[in-house]
Amino acid sequence: MPDSLRSRLALAAIKRRLPALVAGDPVASLPDGLHVAVVGSGSPMPDAKRGNPCAAIIAGGRIFVVDAGERSAETMARMRLAPNRIAAVLLTHFHSDHIGGLGAVNLQRWVADAAQAPLRVLGPPGVERVVAGFNEAYALDSGYRTAHHGPEVAPPSGAVMTAETFSFAEGEDAPLVFDEDGLKITAFAVDHTPVQPAVGYRFDYRGRSAVISGDTVYAPALVRVAQGADLLVHDALSPQLLKLVEDAAGKAGQQMRRRILADVPDYHATAPQAADAAREARVGALALTHIVPPLPLKGLEDIFLSDARERFSGELWLAQDGDLYRLRAGALGVERARMIRRIPGA
Ligand SMILES: [Zn+2]
Ligand SMILES: [Zn+2]
Repeated sequence: MPDSLRSRLALAAIKRRLPALVAGDPVASLPDGLHVAVVGSGSPMPDAKRGNPCAAIIAGGRIFVVDAGERSAETMARMRLAPNRIAAVLLTHFHSDHIGGLGAVNLQRWVADAAQAPLRVLGPPGVERVVAGFNEAYALDSGYRTAHHGPEVAPPSGAVMTAETFSFAEGEDAPLVFDEDGLKITAFAVDHTPVQPAVGYRFDYRGRSAVISGDTVYAPALVRVAQGADLLVHDALSPQLLKLVEDAAGKAGQQMRRRILADVPDYHATAPQAADAAREARVGALALTHIVPPLPLKGLEDIFLSDARERFSGELWLAQDGDLYRLRAGALGVERARMIRRIPGA
């Protein structure tokens, strides 16, 4: 049994801190309104600061998860977003960086409160294949957990997800895909060619509104649907900075990686283009997410933004994992706060 001064101090410190780390449900104390928590603000590129895409929209105490990239469940836990509050997952499209963490999000939500009902996963056509695949991939795992903990802790009926597909005809107006307890969610087509379907979502609750772009270039449909929204969360890429990574891959003899990187700029907006969309849609604030490439040095952020701040006069942020954008009911403006805390050893 190790008994150095260092291990005794560490044990005392962790005993003191654990209750606060484990307890706590910050969603319970949020003011009434619509809130957007950024869980993953990165892309598939390895990024020490930013995880794969995921946002948690909070309305009336319920959490709506938009996309579930790898490590979404872990980051949500660090933000103390209680998984038993998850009402549904909405997928924007089926690129791996947006679905890689779906199994873990479902698992955490299932066992958090012995969920009896399946998790609802909404998305355009294709969502049923993704959900069926995850259900199959996790079937053995959920069977082990029910056998180990018992059906009262891990009821089989709540282990699976159900897909809810909404139709999306070309040229169709943005369909209302969710309308419960004062929350309306509208889907709209974006342009992530050749990825189709690809959608974004608008959330309206108690007079406040937020729009999640999904992955897209500048999209007129987004500008139309986002009109007057309080907050727009838009993907963004810097061609100038990505070219540096592409060139480095070429010099290192990684020709396939160089070619893949060269293909990326044509299906994401730049920061100035996202700012144009925000200005034209007259939104109140803009948060840039899905940051490509990673920005390991603070000084790169201005290069990433280019002239975006001149194109959009509202609040403009580079989203970070753990950000919370609060849109209070009956108020104006967007307040930015942090939900993530430093956890020793994390
Ligand atoms: Zn994508
Ligand atoms: Zn993506």
